[in-house]
Amino acid sequence: MIVEDVRREPTARGWRLSATVRSKAALAAERLHFTVHGGDGEWLPERGDAFLAGLLMPAMSAGEDLVVDAPVSGRLLRSARTVMEIYAAWWKYLRKVTVTAGELVEAKRGQDAVGLFFTLGVDCFYSLLRDGGRRSEPGHRAVTDLLSVNFEQHAGPDHTQLIDRVRMVAERSDCRAVVVETNLRAFTAPLVRWEDFHGAALGSTALALQGLLGRCLIAAGFEYRHLPPYGSHPVLDHLWSNEALEIVHDGADATRAEKVARQLSRSDLALQHLTVCWRSRPGHNCGVCEKCLRTMIALELAGVLRRCRTLPDVLDLDRLRNVPMGSADHRDAMREMGLDAGARGRPDLAAAAELAANRYGQVPRTEAAR
Ligand SMILES: [Zn+2]
Repeated sequence: MIVEDVRREPTARGWRLSATVRSKAALAAERLHFTVHGGDGEWLPERGDAFLAGLLMPAMSAGEDLVVDAPVSGRLLRSARTVMEIYAAWWKYLRKVTVTAGELVEAKRGQDAVGLFFTLGVDCFYSLLRDGGRRSEPGHRAVTDLLSVNFEQHAGPDHTQLIDRVRMVAERSDCRAVVVETNLRAFTAPLVRWEDFHGAALGSTALALQGLLGRCLIAAGFEYRHLPPYGSHPVLDHLWSNEALEIVHDGADATRAEKVARQLSRSDLALQHLTVCWRSRPGHNCGVCEKCLRTMIALELAGVLRRCRTLPDVLDLDRLRNVPMGSADHRDAMREMGLDAGARGRPDLAAAAELAANRYGQVPRTEAAR
């Protein structure tokens, strides 16, 4: 897999960093790009770091050596070896390849913006709100930029509304919203699974913006006590750092229920804008899927479900018991939420969550009867 012709150009709405990628694999397009709305061309230096991070896993999946014909950070290139060791240990479809760069050039230090990838979900709201409470701590570097990345390449009024919400939250939090478009997810989809890859996709996007960011937070999806192999992980995320940009896996100190109880339950901003659903239209919650229901349990445990404007007021336990579980990760997350409910004196919610988790992998009754 060869990355060449790395180029930064102005677009009608901002700036674009892109490169040509040649591979024997069937990739979705010829050029991979990161495009920022507005901003400054200096934010996107013409380097190969973002392409190395974004194409390492796809190259491993394709079994092709990765050649990045552009300046690359020596630190990042060294870390890529460790990333490959972890990937190969976790996922059988990935094997180690050789990675080479056109030239090793240290990243330029001095950028002081602190980014946080922001989707309006529980994890990133927790990181944002907790950061707000730490601003007076010595040595703390406060979040300055909320990064909204359109990996799904959504368009239309729902997506526009989602971006408006991110902008509103940013404004109320004394941050700037930075909106990024990229074809990275579609580009690599033939070769990698998003749940394995998304951490690298975030690292890659942060590296594209290294002319802006000196530090960037990736909000944790799991907690230190339960860390399955997953694309964004405390052993992986920091490895996408280079000499000038520090990438941090943030907020794995708390379960989803603890995040809601400690921070979101005390924030009207979060309760007005919380958006967690993958199933529904961009910027909306369906209110009936596993993730919506699991979030509703956390809000109910914190006593604020009725104050949350974006999810139903009442948790239907029958619906919870019967909610389909899409994966073992969802099952584990539901089980963890059930444990939190039990510990917080809600055996009714604990039992319903446990029943839902236990139904994962079972053949539905209607099919078994056929
Ligand atoms: Zn939903």
